[in-house]
Amino acid sequence: MTAMEASNALAALAGNETAKRALQVAAAGGHTIMLIGNGVATELRALAIEKLGMDPEKVIAWPPCPCGNFGHKHLACRCTYAKIRAHVAKAPAAEMAVETFEPSMEEYRRVGALRHVDQDAVELLDMARQQRYLSVTKMVSIARTIAKLDGAETVRVEHMSEAIQGGLTLAIYMQGAATATA
Ligand SMILES: [Zn+2]
Repeated sequence: MTAMEASNALAALAGNETAKRALQVAAAGGHTIMLIGNGVATELRALAIEKLGMDPEKVIAWPPCPCGNFGHKHLACRCTYAKIRAHVAKAPAAEMAVETFEPSMEEYRRVGALRHVDQDAVELLDMARQQRYLSVTKMVSIARTIAKLDGAETVRVEHMSEAIQGGLTLAIYMQGAATATA
């Protein structure tokens, strides 16, 4: 795969230009790379395996701290300093590491992820994701299904609202499950 093809293969993922570039390098040289971050790191890892044909063992998605929120723009990290140090010390060996970031809505729009989603629905989703971790791509995908069931061509605010309700319920449930096993 040429560098241009590799770059196109990752173009569907919004923002994260530095991480995409690092993945191209890792893929070209067969290097082990650690993607630091939460949901975005997981999405990038899946894309790198699927589109760049990377070895799953050589692409590691690693949360920045045990709760996953350290360094997040909106969400508060609940970890103690000692816990974060222990977490960093446990990080798997890798040749390269790069931070990943939750893309802005503008970056999502630029890659076409918000096509046929009206402005009210985009604003609702942007607000909701600042309260809790919600994957923008997953929420948009579910909202599209709801709109389609409704016979609507455009995702409107009521479709997005229904998708977010389901997303929030899942997030609360998962958080409860994580706390129970911690
Ligand atoms: Zn934390």
